[in-house]
Amino acid sequence: MLRKNEIYPVTFAGYSAEGLGVCRIDGQVVFVAGALDGERAEVRIVKVLKQLAYGRIERLLEASPHRIVSDCPYFVQCGGCSMRHMDYAEELRFKQGRIRDALTRIGGVDPGELPVLGAEETDGYRNKALFPVGEADGAPIAGFYRARSHDVVPVERCRLQAAHADAAKNAILTWMRENRVSVYDETQNKGLVRHLYVRSAFGTGQVLVCVVVNGKKLPNEDGLVDAIRKAVPEVNSIVLAVNREQTNAVLGAEYRTLWGADVIEDTLCGLNFRLSPRSFYQVNRKQAQRLYAIAREKAALTKNDTAIDLYCGTGTISLVLAKDAGEVIGVEVIPAAIEDAKENAARNGVENARFFCADAGEAAARLAKEGIRPTAVVVDPPRKGLSEDVIEAIAVMSPDRVVYVSCDPGTLARDVKLLTEKGYSLVSAEGVDLFPRTPHVESCVLLCRE
Ligand code: SAH
Repeated sequence: MLRKNEIYPVTFAGYSAEGLGVCRIDGQVVFVAGALDGERAEVRIVKVLKQLAYGRIERLLEASPHRIVSDCPYFVQCGGCSMRHMDYAEELRFKQGRIRDALTRIGGVDPGELPVLGAEETDGYRNKALFPVGEADGAPIAGFYRARSHDVVPVERCRLQAAHADAAKNAILTWMRENRVSVYDETQNKGLVRHLYVRSAFGTGQVLVCVVVNGKKLPNEDGLVDAIRKAVPEVNSIVLAVNREQTNAVLGAEYRTLWGADVIEDTLCGLNFRLSPRSFYQVNRKQAQRLYAIAREKAALTKNDTAIDLYCGTGTISLVLAKDAGEVIGVEVIPAAIEDAKENAARNGVENARFFCADAGEAAARLAKEGIRPTAVVVDPPRKGLSEDVIEAIAVMSPDRVVYVSCDPGTLARDVKLLTEKGYSLVSAEGVDLFPRTPHVESCVLLCRE
């Protein structure tokens, strides 16, 4: 039995799904943040649970050749990045291992070669900056949450973000101080400014700055607009988002444009997309383009084929597929996203894509009942993966190919197993790194009917 505060010599072998180093002490699994595969260290046990324990490196005895010194002063207080202690090659190896482990252990399938497409840019790739606002010594601060908490770590310059995102944030903080604008306190549901949010369209250079407020208006809004325009001359749109609920959801339902356009637009895979503050949009545009190209290739559609894109968001994947397909049907549960998808189809002159707003399971069941027989079904669900009724309906429609785009290898693997029980087999699997320096990774797999 491991004892808290005892120190043990260990050798690390592999990583947890979150990228923590894994070692075994007396047969018990211990997770240690900041440890790399192959390293030897003395580890102090800090927490003992039933199945596993957590430890901390007391003394590193032998460092991995992949260990690097973090280039970010906020690492590890800031909960944003957690891989800045290893080189990118090792990070990709971890990500590949994470997908492979899930597919073999949970999915019961052999993913084969499983290439993971690394990003050319591991810094400055994020097109969406979401800064929670907090308070320190009576002054407003903004940055990121400390891991597993809602304590705001003030960050002046985040390496993952575009410089103008930080410039906007810093200018808004100065304006808040000068105008004595209050900071939202989530425990009391009091105070005004909750989050600062900057969305950048790297394809067009357009920028939207959004201030999320627990109220309908801010004092001296003209001053705010001036401050943001001065700090970020390239800004196209300044929006106030009203969120008066006591909730973890960042954005509310109500928006008011303070200056400029209501929305911005970006180019993606040769198409043009409208982005409102509320639209879902992959945070890494360059890597998203590669991900969608892989999904398109795996779907392998021709003009004789119908494809269904479940969880279509604002229609990004649907419109990419429509280039090859006879018809694409996109399904999405959020009404505003479906409006965006329709608008995006129209602005690109795409006439062979139709969209409707429904739960993926209900929609798939309805399409199956209507006798729609798609050649391919593409799914891109949120982290929790597919519901069982979606898998049932896919089995009924019996497409030749299922292309599964996933942001969570664990639920992907669970669903792959269920699909193999419905007569599908895994043909290929790839990872695409949309989130360098974090443990997150996207994957895209192709399953074919046997
Ligand atoms: N494919 C899109 C969006 C993927 S994000 C893109 O790459 O841009 C996942 C989407 O699934 C979100 O837009 C979310 O609103 C939607 N969603 C979540 N639960 C759903 C459900 N039960 N039925 C349909 N769509 C759902």
